[in-house]
Amino acid sequence: MFLELTQEQKLIQETSRDFARAELEPLAAKLDREDDRPAFLANLKKLAELGFMGLNVSAAYGGSEAGAVAFSVAMTEIARACASTAVTVSVNNMVCEVIQAIGSQEQKEAYIPRICSGEYAAGSFALTEAGAGSDPAGMTTTAVQDGDQWVLNGSKIFITSAPYAGVFVVWAITDRDAPRGKGISCFLVEPGAPGLVIGKQEEKTGQHASATCEVIFDDCRIPRDALMGRLNDGFRFAVGELAGGRIGIGSLGLGVGLAAMDFATRYATGRVQFGEKISSFQAIQWMIADAYTELEAARLLLMQAAFRKDAGRSFAKEASMAKMFATEAANRACYSAVQMLGGYGYTRDFPVERYARDARVTTIYEGTNEIQRVIIAREILHSFA
Ligand SMILES: Cc1cc2nc3c(=O)[nH]c(=O)nc-3n(C[C@H](O)[C@H](O)[C@H](O)COP(=O)(O)OP(=O)(O)OC[C@H]3O[C@@H](n4cnc5c(N)ncnc54)[C@H](O)[C@@H]3O)c2cc1C
Repeated sequence: MFLELTQEQKLIQETSRDFARAELEPLAAKLDREDDRPAFLANLKKLAELGFMGLNVSAAYGGSEAGAVAFSVAMTEIARACASTAVTVSVNNMVCEVIQAIGSQEQKEAYIPRICSGEYAAGSFALTEAGAGSDPAGMTTTAVQDGDQWVLNGSKIFITSAPYAGVFVVWAITDRDAPRGKGISCFLVEPGAPGLVIGKQEEKTGQHASATCEVIFDDCRIPRDALMGRLNDGFRFAVGELAGGRIGIGSLGLGVGLAAMDFATRYATGRVQFGEKISSFQAIQWMIADAYTELEAARLLLMQAAFRKDAGRSFAKEASMAKMFATEAANRACYSAVQMLGGYGYTRDFPVERYARDARVTTIYEGTNEIQRVIIAREILHSFA
């Protein structure tokens, strides 16, 4: 067993760390407080130029072809500086992977290079609906064929990057009579499609720079060849891609947790109470020991899931375990980090309160952690049957 990153993976880790420290970190607090979309998008463009918008994508379509391990370490480094940027990169990667998996040759050539190169600011993954979150098979958005077009009706909610997406990957029902999850197809929708409306932007607890919006399809007309993959066979690719996305979100959580603990640990070595640095108190040392141990365990779970993905092995259970553990460890780390700063941790003068807000959603999106437990338990019980 060899637990070292390859030279290429180390290079990607260092490049993402350097970029995150130089370009993302200085802006993160400002973007948390005020809307500066041009600055946010400018950094996405720079990340694309460095190859981070297509880390897991084939070089034939302009990707870096660096694999899931490299993607995970890059996500962690980006999230250490800016969780909003990290979630955008993660969703972008999911969009590329879906197009790569089921798109036609023309669709791959038309869209993936534009996403990887930064010509498109980002891609959007439109699955969730108001009545279909944890249970996406319960969606009600429909796509009906009309001559040489598809007509979409319905709406998606919580769609990351919607206002600046260059393309949306959208799931809709194409056979109402099919069993649950079977009559669903996947479509590529361009932002200028007639009848596509970007609705309300959510006012979120954290990750403020990343836009999360409703996307409405009101007799939205798209060409017949916007269907991706086989008719009525799109849902399993949404479910499959969510597993890959969980490596991204777990890695994001790890990055935020590390950022919080790094800040709090440095603070503890400088803050004096009772005539001593608070880092000399055992209570503080235990918070440091527990948080870093859990974050290291999270990193190993993430590496295992990513390694299995790169090796072409099954990885859904491992990705769920890694996402669940990493995001909960990150939230505990953020809680401890705020605690270690005392009253100052609860103010906006220090970044740990932002880390705590940014980490919170990681146990919710990309499938809640309750759903991760359902997936993990189902796989384990299956192996006992
Ligand atoms: C900031 C943000 C960005 C997002 N980005 C995207 C995006 O880009 N694209 C996209 O398609 N979606 C996106 N989502 C949606 C996200 O994936 C869903 O919010 C998530 O899957 C949960 O769905 P829900 O919010 O409807 O909660 P619900 O499904 O209503 O869940 C409510 C509660 O019930 C629990 N629960 C539900 N079913 C079960 C069960 N079977 N067993 C145990 N507990 C259960 C849940 O765990 C949760 O605690 C985003 C969400 C947020 C907040």
